[in-house]
Amino acid sequence: MAAQRILVVEDEPRIANLVCDNLEDEGYRVVLATDGAAALRAARQGGNDLILLDVMLPELDGFEVCRRLRSEGVNTPILLVTARDLPPDRVEGLMAGGDDYLIKPFHLDELLARVHALLRRSGWSEPKSVTRVNIGECWIDFDRAEAQDIHGEMVALNAKEIGILKLLFEAHGSVVQRGDIIAEVWGDEADPTPRTVDNFVVRLRKRFEPDLTNPRYLITARGIGYRLRLDED
Ligand code: CA
Repeated sequence: MAAQRILVVEDEPRIANLVCDNLEDEGYRVVLATDGAAALRAARQGGNDLILLDVMLPELDGFEVCRRLRSEGVNTPILLVTARDLPPDRVEGLMAGGDDYLIKPFHLDELLARVHALLRRSGWSEPKSVTRVNIGECWIDFDRAEAQDIHGEMVALNAKEIGILKLLFEAHGSVVQRGDIIAEVWGDEADPTPRTVDNFVVRLRKRFEPDLTNPRYLITARGIGYRLRLDED
């Protein structure tokens, strides 16, 4: 089973490092967002098993992030981390859709215990992994290996196409090197050249890009690889 992924939302670098390091040591995959807007983007992209959400964030605070995600139907378990321990805050956090909360300063043991408990609890309900992702006007269904393309038509995607898209999607907008794409998607099979990856990306662009001369979603990192941009910004 793949490692469970935790989205950590924390604006204080010292705490972020401490928390991320400890979660990684426990075997979790960790994604860090350092403000509310980044948290919303990362949470909307899905694939997270848990969101560890600091309440005191600049601009968009944790309660607001939580409220928005819930109103959009994102049901990933959320563990709120608040520095204040006032009863109204607890109520606000739970009203906003948080599943549990942790008071700062916290002991790492307590953090890990709550993370573990929340993941176990959510594991009892249906799996929450994202299967469908929107790319502009199109969408991809990873489980069914099908998509709606730029012409509004349903198309079947082959294993390589799905593999590439999934890898880019799971990278959350960061660049994936061509070599890594080959290693992950082709594995031991044959020996494709970086050019093979490029050809597949060209095919995918034909499916999902409104303007092939100016790709909006499948972005080339010249000489390195590709990244998938799902945000409008
Ligand atoms: Ca904070």
